[in-house]
Amino acid sequence: MSIRPIYLDCHATTPVDERVLAAMIPYFTEKFGNASSIGHVYGWESEAAVKQTREILAAAINATPEEIVFTSGATEANNLAIKGVAEAYFKKGQHIITVATEHNAVLDPCNYLKTLGFEITILPVKKDGLIDLTELNKAFRPETILVSVMAANNEIGVLQPLAEIGELCHAYNIIFHTDAAQAIGKTPLDVQAMKIDLMSLTAHKVFGPKGIGALYVRRRDPRVQLAPQQHGGGHERGMRSGTLYTPQIVGFGKAVEIALAEQATENQRLTQLRQSLWKQLSQLEGIHLNGHPQQRLAGNLNISVEGVDGAALLLGLQPVMSVSSGSACSSANTSPSSVLTALGNPQQLAYASVRFGIGRFNTQEEIDIVAKHAIATIQSLRKPSFMDSRAGKQQFDLAPAD
Ligand SMILES: *Cc1c(COP(=O)(O)O)cnc(C)c1O
Repeated sequence: MSIRPIYLDCHATTPVDERVLAAMIPYFTEKFGNASSIGHVYGWESEAAVKQTREILAAAINATPEEIVFTSGATEANNLAIKGVAEAYFKKGQHIITVATEHNAVLDPCNYLKTLGFEITILPVKKDGLIDLTELNKAFRPETILVSVMAANNEIGVLQPLAEIGELCHAYNIIFHTDAAQAIGKTPLDVQAMKIDLMSLTAHKVFGPKGIGALYVRRRDPRVQLAPQQHGGGHERGMRSGTLYTPQIVGFGKAVEIALAEQATENQRLTQLRQSLWKQLSQLEGIHLNGHPQQRLAGNLNISVEGVDGAALLLGLQPVMSVSSGSACSSANTSPSSVLTALGNPQQLAYASVRFGIGRFNTQEEIDIVAKHAIATIQSLRKPSFMDSRAGKQQFDLAPAD
């Protein structure tokens, strides 16, 4: 068997945990019933399995099982939340607020709504990637119907202040949606304490299967109205028709159950690995940390590297590690990351960037191999003149807290 690169792209997707797979398998073969078949045992056992995942997800975010609507992933959940609210509330108002660093699965539905006549305010972020609450406050209008701010960013890992945002939204009677695709199972989520009305979830970033997600839809204080985006058999209380994908739903539940049980110890372990990686890499000159040093996902490290070409760097790293570039590089076919440029550092454009997404199956040994290879690659790509140009310069960012 050939040696494969070390996988460090856990914000893109994660492998299915063996325990999750084991839970799913019977639901492909023996327990294959349609969860809507109310007349026989095949249907009942599928229905029971779906109910169990609904309960796990609801408990994970302090909701009730009736408030969970299964979707094909976070992309669909975001579309249902944003377009569903727009369609249900357009008579009340046609203004939506979101943020420059959101995932395309939020920005694109908003841009689509713009073509239908909605007005979209896109909030900037501060240098650390967090939104400014006074900017949010200023953006509210009488016709604002929805605020969509993600829980954890998929590139720089920063955790937005959900409770403060929820407080403001509810004070103004505005629906608050959060895309928690990167957050579920990794950071505490509580729809009551954080006053969240809609929350998008997905399984495949948390060692569950691809193709399954959910939207939490608040049922009281306030009861959120949603126009379905997919019509049919009236599944999921009419909000999302289509036969439930029982094996994936079972896997989703198991994945979240495991992640929650291990969350505290795993976050500690990941923080140590991230710290170790940063400590080793930041021994080099001209390495910058992107995103807030503490208020971020434990497994996320995003750096910008001075003095190297982004495409060349990624190519050099490839044989040893599978990472992603939030690239601001000079090669023609890669456009700069809109998240990194939104941080407002004008020099960012000239830097190469790397996103390390550390996960459950990464070890200290792997981190050491990765750090060593990354350092050697960066050094080999830098011209001798680079070090001269660095003389006397200050690192402008802080190391993440331990
Ligand atoms: C991965 C991701 C999505 C898309 O989720 P899918 O389940 O793949 O559709 C949406 N938002 C964020 C923040 C993500 O990281």
